[in-house]
Amino acid sequence: MASTTVSKTVSLGSNPSIPAPMQHYPLLLYPNPILHKKALAGEGFTQEVHNLISHMQDVMKTHNGVGLAAPQVGISLRLILVQNGETVEACMNPQVLSSSKEREVDTEGCLSIPGLWIPISRPARISVSYLAKDGKEVTRDLKGFLARVFQHEIDHINGKLIIDHLGFWERFKLRKRLKNLGEKSL
Ligand SMILES: [Zn+2]
Repeated sequence: MASTTVSKTVSLGSNPSIPAPMQHYPLLLYPNPILHKKALAGEGFTQEVHNLISHMQDVMKTHNGVGLAAPQVGISLRLILVQNGETVEACMNPQVLSSSKEREVDTEGCLSIPGLWIPISRPARISVSYLAKDGKEVTRDLKGFLARVFQHEIDHINGKLIIDHLGFWERFKLRKRLKNLGEKSL
């Protein structure tokens, strides 16, 4: 449950609160309110952050995800993991610097909203910057699947979920499924 996850967090160094290394913290599911909160900027890759990354990688693997954001495990930190081929990239404080006018629609799912797959329109190409694990500031131009995963995960650290991209009627049509998901996750 969200409330217990938050109450167990401890403040470590300059980064926002991250749980103690050995603590187990679960994947949060919709409608947990933490998923709708804007996450806090990180200061760098401390040991605690490395421990968090390792935990997030486990969660991603267990649920066959291609990306994960720290708020999804209850941590308010602007940290995302993105699967890129065989490697999992950890990006701190990622930002979209610019995005193409051209958009693409593709079906997206989210580990925090299990079983829901919906078409989402996003800019086809973006330029992003972030702090990489080696401490270097990186700027990259992305397109296709990787651009989509980055945008999905950056949405998470801004408290935005795939259902928040839907118009009123599209969301209204999903109300029963979302209500069921909400009841299941309690
Ligand atoms: Zn997601």
